[in-house]
Amino acid sequence: AVRTRFAPSPTGFLHIGGARTALFSWLFARHYGGQFLLRIEDTDRTRSTEEAVEAIFEGMRWLGLDWDEEPVFQYARRERHAEVANQLLAEGKAYKCYASQEELAEMRERAKAEGKPQGYDGRWRDRDPADAPEGVAPVIRLKMPRDGETVIRDHVQGDVTMPNNVLDDYILLRSDGSPTYMLSVVVDDHDMGITHVIRGDDHLTNAARQINLLQAMGWDVPAYAHVPMIHGPDGAKLSKRHGAMGAEQYRDMGYLPEAMRNYLARLGWSHGDDEVFSTEQAIEWFGLEQIGKSPARFDFAKLANLNGIYIREADDTRLADETLRMMRDVKGWQVDDGVRAALIEAMPGLKERAKTIDDLAEGAKFLIATRPLDMNEKAEKLLDADARGVLAGLLPALEGMGDWSLDGIEGAVRAFAEEKDLKLGKVAQPLRAALTGTTTSPGIFDVLAVLGRDESLARIKDQAA
Ligand code: GLU
Repeated sequence: AVRTRFAPSPTGFLHIGGARTALFSWLFARHYGGQFLLRIEDTDRTRSTEEAVEAIFEGMRWLGLDWDEEPVFQYARRERHAEVANQLLAEGKAYKCYASQEELAEMRERAKAEGKPQGYDGRWRDRDPADAPEGVAPVIRLKMPRDGETVIRDHVQGDVTMPNNVLDDYILLRSDGSPTYMLSVVVDDHDMGITHVIRGDDHLTNAARQINLLQAMGWDVPAYAHVPMIHGPDGAKLSKRHGAMGAEQYRDMGYLPEAMRNYLARLGWSHGDDEVFSTEQAIEWFGLEQIGKSPARFDFAKLANLNGIYIREADDTRLADETLRMMRDVKGWQVDDGVRAALIEAMPGLKERAKTIDDLAEGAKFLIATRPLDMNEKAEKLLDADARGVLAGLLPALEGMGDWSLDGIEGAVRAFAEEKDLKLGKVAQPLRAALTGTTTSPGIFDVLAVLGRDESLARIKDQAA
C-alpha cells in the first residue's frame, strides 16, 4: 500500500512551497487509497518552536489536508536513530572519527586551494581505533562507497547519477550523541513504512546520500519524486512579495481553501488543459508523471481569478461568516452580530465582483458605516447640487412606500426616474454615493433593501438638498 509523508521542520509558518509539496503527497496517497503521514522534524532544538508546530497543524487543517495516524515527532525518536548508527558501527559500516574542528577546517582549506572536493577526506576511515586521542568524543560517520556512482531513480527528474567520490563519509551521530538530519530522515521513513518520498528538489543530493545509508542497513529504497521549487513571476526565487507566505496569511488575505488547493495543484502539476477542477477530480487524476521538471511560477493574479470563481460558487452563509471574521479578526472593525443577517442578504450582489473575502468585506463596508457617512473623493465629486436635488426629489417617493421590498424599491425608483425623465443611472449614482460613501457597490436596489428603510432614508436625507 502507498504511504507518503510530509516532513516539515517547525521553524516558521507552513509556507506555500511546503503546502504545495504536502498537497502533492496527500493527493498521491488519496489517489491510491493509501496513507498520508505527518512528521514534525523538530531535531533542531534551537529553531523549532511550539507555535510553528501549531501553525503547521492549523495550516494543514485549513487547507483540508488531513493526515493519517498520529503525527510523528522526530526528536522523540532520537534514541532509535542512535541505535541504527551504533548498529552500523558494530557491523563495520560506520566508524568513529576524532578529527577536530580546526583539523577539518584546514582540510577544507587545502582541498579548496587544490581545487578538489571539499568534503571529509575519510582520514579516520581505516585508522586504528587505538590512535584515538584521549578525552575526545568522536562523531560516527557512514562508510560511503569510494568508487562507482549512485543512481537516484526519480519519478520527476528521471535517473540522476552521482559519482560516489563527491559524496563524502557524512556524519550520522554528532559527538554529543545527537543524530543528524540525514540519519533521522532515513530511519524514520523506513520505520514509518514510507513507500514514496515526495519533496522539494533541494533534497535531491541528500537522496544520493540517503540511498547509501538505506543500502548499508539492507532496507528498501523508497520511490523518489523531487519536485522543482516554486519561483516568483519573474523566474527568481519566490520572495515574500511574490507569495512566499504562510497558509494563514493566505486565509487572512481572503482566499478560500478549495481555491488554494486547486491553484497549488496546478503549480508544477497539470492534467491536460484543465485549470478549474475540484479536489475530488484532482485526487482522481493525480500522478507523478505529470509533474513538470521546471520550476512553476507563482502568479497572484491567477490565484485571485480562481478564487473569484470559487467565491461565486460558495454558499452565501459561509461567505457571510468568513466576511464577518475578516472584518473583525483581520481588519479589526467593530461589527455587531446583527450584521451577519445583512451580509447573508447582500451576498448574492456582493460576490458578483469579489475575488477575495477581503473584497467582500470592503464591498460590505457600507453596512457597518455610521452616519454621517465618510464620502470618498469620487462620491464627494458626484454629489453636486444637481445630484443632491435628485435625492431630495426621490425622498418622498421612498418615504411613501408601504412594504420595503426589493420589488417595491425598484418600482418606486424606476417610476421616479421616468416621471422626471432621468436615466436610471442619474438616480442610482447619487443614491449609491449617499448610501455607501463610494461609487462602487452591489446593485443599488440590493443596497437599499439590505440597509432597510430607516437607515436608507436617513443616509439619503444626510446628502439631499
Ligand atoms: N524537514 C525537511 C524540510 O523541511 C524535509 C525532509 C524531507 O522531506 O525529506 O526541508
